[in-house]
Amino acid sequence: MKLFACPICKNPLLRFDGSLKCRGNHSYDIAREGYVNLLPAQYRRSRRPGDNADMVATRTQFLNKGHYLPLVKSLHKIIIETRLGAPLVDLGCGDGYFTSALAEHIPDVYGVDVSKPAIKAACKREKSINWAVGTVSRLPFIDGAFGTATTLMAPMSQDVSRVLLPTGKLCRVTPATNHLSELKQTMYREVQEHRRANTSLAHFVLIRSTRVTFGKELSIEDQKDLVGMTPMRYRISKSHAKDACATKMTHVTFDFWIDVFEKHD
Ligand SMILES: [Zn+2]
Repeated sequence: MKLFACPICKNPLLRFDGSLKCRGNHSYDIAREGYVNLLPAQYRRSRRPGDNADMVATRTQFLNKGHYLPLVKSLHKIIIETRLGAPLVDLGCGDGYFTSALAEHIPDVYGVDVSKPAIKAACKREKSINWAVGTVSRLPFIDGAFGTATTLMAPMSQDVSRVLLPTGKLCRVTPATNHLSELKQTMYREVQEHRRANTSLAHFVLIRSTRVTFGKELSIEDQKDLVGMTPMRYRISKSHAKDACATKMTHVTFDFWIDVFEKHD
């Protein structure tokens, strides 16, 4: 837990028994599940920010079925080929499914998410990772801490380059054009294709882009879970979602861009 910094005064946090403390005398308890909450009340946009417990459970149930394994395999390949190094931080890590997969190849891994239920689920999934509740816009880490930052289908922030080493890399996964297109066709009258996420980021140079596309036959149950764990859930009402999902097994396309950037000041 040595790379955590106080979210209020930015000083490094040191461990004293069951808590982390900074020079400014701010103190953060380590929860019995093993995570630390580094999201002070003043930085919360709502009383319970991020995914709620139901959304997290839906996500965990879906991910544990292994539908995203082809993406995990591609990530493992890219870790080796682009030499992503330790320590690694996964930004907006959710329930830690991908973070745990990344930790199979890189030691000393941290995961941060604004949702407390997500971080609690992550603790159950993997004990060896340093989990924290925190906001991606004010990352609770010391400057120049990480060799790699990952952001998988999660919001990006300007603060990322600060927490990376001078030679650090950012690995970003975003949806590509055909991602979940069959589901969207059943649900919306007009389907908007995913626009390619911006590849010119301040403080970074793009060094590699890989497109990963695969298909899955999904049961009605899986289709509903998938809608519940993606931004699609915000665009339709719950009752509509039930009717809108296909009434049979459906072939669904998963389509991603994996972009690797190198820090460049
Ligand atoms: Zn402090």
